[in-house]
Amino acid sequence: MKIFPIVTIAFATFCVVNAVPQYDTKAPKTAAPKAPKAAGKGAPTKAAPAPPAPPVAAPAAGTPAAPPAPLTNGYPTTDKVPDPNDPQVLAWLKELDLSKVPNLPISNGGKINPDQANCNPPTVIQPDQGSWTCQKFTAPDDVATCPDVGTWGITFDDGPSTSTPKLLSKLAEHNLKATFFVVGSRAISNPKILKDAYDAGHNIAVHTWSHPALTSLSNEEIVAELKWTMKAIKDVIGVTPIYMRPPYGDTDNRVRAITRAIGLKTVLWLPEFDSNDWTLVSTPPKSIDVVLNSFNTWMQTFPKLNTGFIVLEHDLFPQTVDAATIVIDRAVKVPNLKIVTVPQCVGDSKPYFELVGSNATTTTTTTTTNTGSTYGNNGTTGSFASPVSNVKGSSSASTTSITAGSIIVVLFSSLLNLN
Ligand SMILES: [Zn+2]
Repeated sequence: MKIFPIVTIAFATFCVVNAVPQYDTKAPKTAAPKAPKAAGKGAPTKAAPAPPAPPVAAPAAGTPAAPPAPLTNGYPTTDKVPDPNDPQVLAWLKELDLSKVPNLPISNGGKINPDQANCNPPTVIQPDQGSWTCQKFTAPDDVATCPDVGTWGITFDDGPSTSTPKLLSKLAEHNLKATFFVVGSRAISNPKILKDAYDAGHNIAVHTWSHPALTSLSNEEIVAELKWTMKAIKDVIGVTPIYMRPPYGDTDNRVRAITRAIGLKTVLWLPEFDSNDWTLVSTPPKSIDVVLNSFNTWMQTFPKLNTGFIVLEHDLFPQTVDAATIVIDRAVKVPNLKIVTVPQCVGDSKPYFELVGSNATTTTTTTTTNTGSTYGNNGTTGSFASPVSNVKGSSSASTTSITAGSIIVVLFSSLLNLN
């Protein structure tokens, strides 16, 4: 009975610790990318979406081919939750078995929340909700750590952006590979940058179409967010990612069940391994020392863990990429530290559906949407046999996270007085 007021207190802590950049759906779609404005104390930063490029004329003889134009025809509006009644989405829904999706409350009273999920009313959190945001629950099949001590699963969210190439250059300088959790709207806006990242050997993964808090969406809207992003990525790089990160880490047992039904694997991060790089573009912006201090803390912490770790960073802004390049230069000098992608850190050599073989099945594509590249159109999906988690309170979350050395979860569990 004391849980809701205490959850409020705990959530305030999480907002400070876990807030990440989001997209400004109110920004004019034709405006050039600009420095974001802060939405308030502790709020995520805002970024204008990349502008659509003008039509590309045929190159003159002897000149290099122009980069692929943004892929727009047939795709949903960028930075907006796609229509769940779109024929393509209905076709995808028809193929999915959502019978194991638990009937749990939708956060924010069912109103789409483009920001960090709010745990206050009208959000209702059931004991078996398994909320990462509000209960800090981690399901057994959530990937939040790397199993091997000293292994860093390096991840960048919210791109591809015009800042991504600088990061790719830095990673190439040190022969490092990273996982990029891609926003579908950015994938079709910057297809060449995404293709360059994939061709360089980086792991491409799903981060949703418009970056909402997924727990605030209906089952059908969640399917639309994930499947459109999978299709956009497939159209650009030719393969369909298996790994997915929910924006803000906002998932629960309903979102997880839908994610599993689609065949995606959820990736989170260890709370104390958040770079907090979004504060570099807040108003007023924080100093880069925030990120460098975070890095110093990680370096002191990781030798004491009995697992490796996954870090949250972003490649959406010049400031966050600049910080990442400094961090990378320092990290490669740290002894006993191995920097890898998320699939590498969990020992998965097949991070795309097309590589899984017999587990992959071709899905129906009702429309041809790719007008700007030569890449294929057929999305694929596969079966993922993991059953829906049967959450018993938050004790499992505490156990998992304490094992991983999670200070924040220990704090949360004590606030909840769960015994
Ligand atoms: Zn994000």
